[in-house]
Amino acid sequence: MTTSTDPVPGGRPGDVRRAAALTAELSAKDVRGIVLGYVDTAGVGRVKTIPTARLETAVAWGVGMSPVFDTFLADDSIVTTDVLGSPDGDLRLYPDLDQLVPLAGQPGWAWAPVDRITQEGDRHPGCSRTFLRRIVTGAAERHGLTFKAALEIEWAVGLGSAPAGEFLPAVSGPAYGAIRQVELSDYTADLLAAFAAQGVDVDQLHPEYAEGQFEVSVGALDPVAAADRSVLVRQTVRAVAQRHGLRVSFAPVVSAEGVGNGGHLHLSCWRDGRNLHAGGASRYGMTSEAESFAAGVLAHLPALTAVTAPSPASYLRLRPSRWAGVFTAWGRETREAALRVVTGTAGRREQEANLEVKPVDLAANPYLALGCVIAAGLDGLAAARSLPEEITGDPARYGMDEAAALGVRRLPESLPQAVAEFRTDRVLRDALGPVLADAVIAVRLGEAAAVAGLDDDRVAAAYRWKY
Ligand code: GLU
Ligand code: MG
Repeated sequence: MTTSTDPVPGGRPGDVRRAAALTAELSAKDVRGIVLGYVDTAGVGRVKTIPTARLETAVAWGVGMSPVFDTFLADDSIVTTDVLGSPDGDLRLYPDLDQLVPLAGQPGWAWAPVDRITQEGDRHPGCSRTFLRRIVTGAAERHGLTFKAALEIEWAVGLGSAPAGEFLPAVSGPAYGAIRQVELSDYTADLLAAFAAQGVDVDQLHPEYAEGQFEVSVGALDPVAAADRSVLVRQTVRAVAQRHGLRVSFAPVVSAEGVGNGGHLHLSCWRDGRNLHAGGASRYGMTSEAESFAAGVLAHLPALTAVTAPSPASYLRLRPSRWAGVFTAWGRETREAALRVVTGTAGRREQEANLEVKPVDLAANPYLALGCVIAAGLDGLAAARSLPEEITGDPARYGMDEAAALGVRRLPESLPQAVAEFRTDRVLRDALGPVLADAVIAVRLGEAAAVAGLDDDRVAAAYRWKY
């Protein structure tokens, strides 16, 4: 479980004492420093680090960092909104002790995600982790709902010795191939050991389709913890790779023509310990609430892409017939529909049934992505929406008329198109609040402007090593 309350100046009750005990424990394990991590609006992981001895002070009073990072772009240039992007002001970063973990792939270090509050002790409206916590808490209060979530992680493994900026795959052989598994045997075994040491329960780890690509899927948690975990998993994948002379990329694509790295988002709604996606009277065992939730996600997908596919490189990945889900369609276990209804295996449906949202990549800030997908689903729930007809097979085969008759639309094909959809989506903008919504728009338009006139190869190269 994740801490559900906001940080307070002086520390949440009990946390300072807990930090003192943790400091002794961490020091005994030779942990010298703590990485305080968050993800900015552009999807870039940013950090401050502190010596372990400073943990108690950090838990009481936070660690300073400028709010300007909320409108940083991936190339570290800065855009502005009415309230963000100025060099003025300071925020306090508060580590969440519930999620603090020694990093097995980085001996000497521990990691914790942070909430950001103002110097006056108020919620920072640009804090994406606080946003997601607010959405989840609101769903519990208003609808009695809880959620289980997980983000899949795909990445490309390259040789650390490649010329600067270039990607040279570290493995050869076919997709899902035994050759690749053998070639990176030591790396992946160390990775599994690091996950186990960090309490990350791995479902599967396997060689994927694209050059040098691997994937890991992990167990579902409450949404805030799932987003934290996605950040921790990437930190670990990268750190262990580096110890093996390898370099990893989570960018939406590493090369313009190739299949991309997805960050498919899995989500299920629960009430009183019961999974609403199984055992119901709607299609495939969904309850009517689960169906309405799914229909809400589907309806908001075009606008959601501004959050779930936030990089110009995201639109090199979002192409038909690559399992990235680029059509507003749903289907049971259909890997080309943007929304895949996962029913699970007979006998385990109560645990396994969930929704998979495919047009999500790892440039997405996972807190924003989860919060917005949940807000979209809750909108469907409030409006008692129904799902349209399901599709089977690849929607890319439909002609224009057939697609229109089925209500199947191509998702935005560029970041500016996604922003245009997002601007008209009141539900998402209201959920985010004006500060975050404006930051999303400004940062996306800034990214689009940064690559204006570049061809696809140069766009892929510009973001290859940013996420
Ligand atoms: N690599 C695909 C993507 O870009 C996903 C493949 C899969 O379904 O695992 O989303
Ligand atoms: Mg995959």
